[in-house]
Amino acid sequence: MGIPMVDLKRQYQTMKDEIDQVIQEVIDTTAFVRSKNVNRFEEEFAAYCGAKYGVACSSGTTALHLALRACGIGPGDEVITVPFTFIATTEAVSNVGGKPVFVDIELDSYNIDVSAVEGAITKKTKAIIPVDLYGQPADLDPIFEIAEKHNLTVIEDAAQAHASEYKGKRIGSLSPFTCYSFFPGKNLGAYGDAGMILTNDEQSNERMRMLCDHGRRGKYEYEMEGYNFRMDGMQAAILSAKLKHLDDWTEKRRRNGQLYNQYLREADVVTPVEKEYAKHVYHCYVVRTKDRQKIQDKLKEEGIASGVHYPIALHLQPAYADYGYKRGDFPVSEQCAEEVLSLPMFPELTEAEIQRISALVVEVTTR
Ligand SMILES: *Cc1c(COP(=O)(O)O)cnc(C)c1O
Repeated sequence: MGIPMVDLKRQYQTMKDEIDQVIQEVIDTTAFVRSKNVNRFEEEFAAYCGAKYGVACSSGTTALHLALRACGIGPGDEVITVPFTFIATTEAVSNVGGKPVFVDIELDSYNIDVSAVEGAITKKTKAIIPVDLYGQPADLDPIFEIAEKHNLTVIEDAAQAHASEYKGKRIGSLSPFTCYSFFPGKNLGAYGDAGMILTNDEQSNERMRMLCDHGRRGKYEYEMEGYNFRMDGMQAAILSAKLKHLDDWTEKRRRNGQLYNQYLREADVVTPVEKEYAKHVYHCYVVRTKDRQKIQDKLKEEGIASGVHYPIALHLQPAYADYGYKRGDFPVSEQCAEEVLSLPMFPELTEAEIQRISALVVEVTTR
């Protein structure tokens, strides 16, 4: 029997009645856009993360875009982030007219190497975007210190890190802006695209709320030009229903991570490191190996999916050729791009499946 990377069908089966009911309610009340469902989910998710305000929007990408606009980032401004992330992180910077400036990552956490940040700051730098890659928060406190010293803002890309914690506090309550994606495959996923920005700042909250909906204050009264970046009522209703399960799903992901670590003990792969400041929520379960292709081929033969997040670091992508980066500029990111391998990870994955996947990895790497 095959095993996919993520099994959303299995998850739906565990809560079919709840989901079907909330979808039917949205249809019955025609609460499709800017509805009470959206307001309610904003309040619920902000409260869950310990933030004052949540601004619902159409995706993780537009969440980053709105946060960047809220702090006035535009043409000529530089934003420091990592080249080892999904392109949405840097695309949002470019889309507001800014320039992404890369610093390398740490080999153990796969997150921003804090010691490299100050060297990348120039007079044009306005913000830092740490990414909580694979579900583990970046080391935020030293980033906040650097930001304060140089008068920069911090926009955390938590698209993979719902419910994760930094030093015992939930992500979403700590950075000036924390951006989430509710893409279906994320730890809290909608049935389509959706996203949210959390903030404790009232002015930013108001500004993002306006920008998200054509810059409007009243129905036909516009403070500025904005965007149509709104979240659908249907997605908000589904997300409210699913949020009730997030604690349970997070614990199951963590248990599955532990099981992988245990069953892969004999394998010649580097298993994930959970930093002492972090609660890792295993959006992805990622190992590092020199035998990536051999493992992927073997798993595929057995009907087991695997993935690579991400095979080409952003500074080497054709999209960023104009910046003139070259191979060797960010050696850790480049090494990871060649060696990381994501194994199937979702809450409903069973111990027997993890055992079966791990045994194949052991077989390939110790032969
Ligand atoms: C998924 C993701 C995004 C973008 O989210 P979308 O909802 O797909 O727009 C941004 N950053 C990271 C790190 C992601 O994993």
